[in-house]
Amino acid sequence: MCVNGVDKYVNFIPVKSSINWDEYFMVQAMIASFKSKDPSTKVGCVFVDDNNHQLSMGYNGMLAGIDETKIPWGNDKGVNYELQKYGYVIHSEANAIAHAKCSLKGARVYVTLFPCPECTKQIACHGVKEVIYLSDKYKDSDEVRVSKKLMEMASIKYRHLAISKELISSINKYFIEMIDGIVV
Ligand SMILES: [Zn+2]
Repeated sequence: MCVNGVDKYVNFIPVKSSINWDEYFMVQAMIASFKSKDPSTKVGCVFVDDNNHQLSMGYNGMLAGIDETKIPWGNDKGVNYELQKYGYVIHSEANAIAHAKCSLKGARVYVTLFPCPECTKQIACHGVKEVIYLSDKYKDSDEVRVSKKLMEMASIKYRHLAISKELISSINKYFIEMIDGIVV
């Protein structure tokens, strides 16, 4: 509506976020995974409360402060256990739980790979109520079957979340525009 040539509604342009909450936190988990040094499996996660506030995030890695050059990243289970990464690496969920600065009770967790049984037990012990995962590539393994059984017994909901390539392309385009100074 124009009054004396001024549109009084001009500052109330309808706007919509380009990303929903599920996508927003899963993309954060994906970015966290990008920080992992594991050459074969990079996993990231984000714990979130009911108000969509982030509580903690993590990725799989070694103990903070240790000399990582003395530790193997190899995943060959045919060699001595001491020379496999499995004895040393801390999973993303365990890392995020260890570094959380507040209670995770009632939280939900976005994770790029379905949690293993050890992390599932940690998730359950801390009262997390929902697991939202991107990949379930080990769904036929005994480990993931046990994780799902534990979640069902502990009344933890779990659901898959798909992230579209269109979303990643639009984020990529936005970031490029941002560093080119177009959108900031
Ligand atoms: Zn785990």
